[in-house]
Amino acid sequence: METILCLVHVETDGTLAKASLEAVNSAATLAKSLPGSAFAVGLIGELVQAAANAIATCGAAKFYAVSGADFASPRYATDAAAAEAICRAANATLIIASGGSRWARVGAGVAQRLKGRADTHVTAISVENGAPRISRWYYRQRIETILSRAQRPWLILTDPGSAAAWSGATGTATVESVKVAITDANRRTTVTGIRAPAADAQTIRPEAEVLFVAGAGWTKKQANGQPRLKEAETLILDFLKQSRASLGSSKSLVDISGEGQAVLSFLTHLNQIGQTGSTPRHAKGLATCCHGEEPHSVGWRFINERRAINLDANCGWARGKADILYVADAFAVMAKVNALLATR
Ligand SMILES: Cc1cc2nc3c(=O)[nH]c(=O)nc-3n(C[C@H](O)[C@H](O)[C@H](O)COP(=O)(O)OP(=O)(O)OC[C@H]3O[C@@H](n4cnc5c(N)ncnc54)[C@H](O)[C@@H]3O)c2cc1C
Repeated sequence: METILCLVHVETDGTLAKASLEAVNSAATLAKSLPGSAFAVGLIGELVQAAANAIATCGAAKFYAVSGADFASPRYATDAAAAEAICRAANATLIIASGGSRWARVGAGVAQRLKGRADTHVTAISVENGAPRISRWYYRQRIETILSRAQRPWLILTDPGSAAAWSGATGTATVESVKVAITDANRRTTVTGIRAPAADAQTIRPEAEVLFVAGAGWTKKQANGQPRLKEAETLILDFLKQSRASLGSSKSLVDISGEGQAVLSFLTHLNQIGQTGSTPRHAKGLATCCHGEEPHSVGWRFINERRAINLDANCGWARGKADILYVADAFAVMAKVNALLATR
């Protein structure tokens, strides 16, 4: 019989992030698909009761927690110790956590301490013949594998955005406190502050419905024989401001920016989509002035509806990579789109 444990960390405001709720949903769904299994939640954070109450009706029979000021911020030593202690207290055989930076940092180490195994970047959990299986993509999202393991405990880190977030009635959870002895040696790393761009300067928005991708074409000579950089910058920023879309880029464009040339200053390599970039999960995507070559478009694997604007009717998007290709001047199209958005 499996004992499923969902590990979540509590945000500094006492809530659970969407990615944590996705992990709760994956664990709750797995528990339902494995008759006879036990289901527990483990919380880590400074104060955990409100977060436990928020998921009190998720189906977990037990709630374990390691709490206190030592566990407020992410830190390998304390997070790993807390996770290990909860896994042992729960006798967990299947441990599910969100693959965000906090659990990704400690997941493999915790599995090693428990003599278990860890799998990261899991995009789905299913059951076949009574055995849990995970889906995972390899070779930059080109090959999907479905695998299972005999080894227990098995720690499964799910990719944020790959499952629906759990939602349900709040309640009053009975939380069992798990004690972890922390020494000064565990406190050597401290979080001294958080540097984040201002809300409007943050162009990477995983929760946005639309992904807007800018390609190197925005910086190339246009019909008038000149590049139209300032105009490109204004058009893109105007669109992002009005649509609240997330900004992605091709590698060529961010590479030019990185080389210090005067091009779209708000782009960094963090915006890059593709084989050596990211693989976002927005519902819709619009590529502009981007050729749609395989190393780029492979990063669109999980975008449900893909559109592109390119002057070239033979660009990569035309070869089965986009649902709709507008063969048009992206400068003209985006100016029109922005004007329409402004009238809303
Ligand atoms: C190992 C490896 C890994 C790579 N990883 C990545 C990766 O992770 N991500 C990535 O993006 N690339 C990656 N690449 C690079 C990739 O192969 C392409 O070189 C890159 O994606 C091209 O970027 P682009 O389409 O923006 O530029 P270009 O190929 O220069 O295309 C510009 C496009 O803009 C169009 N255009 C110009 N003006 C206009 C206009 N006014 N209106 C409409 N369209 C216009 C042109 O027709 C053209 O199609 C990788 C390459 C290798 C070898």
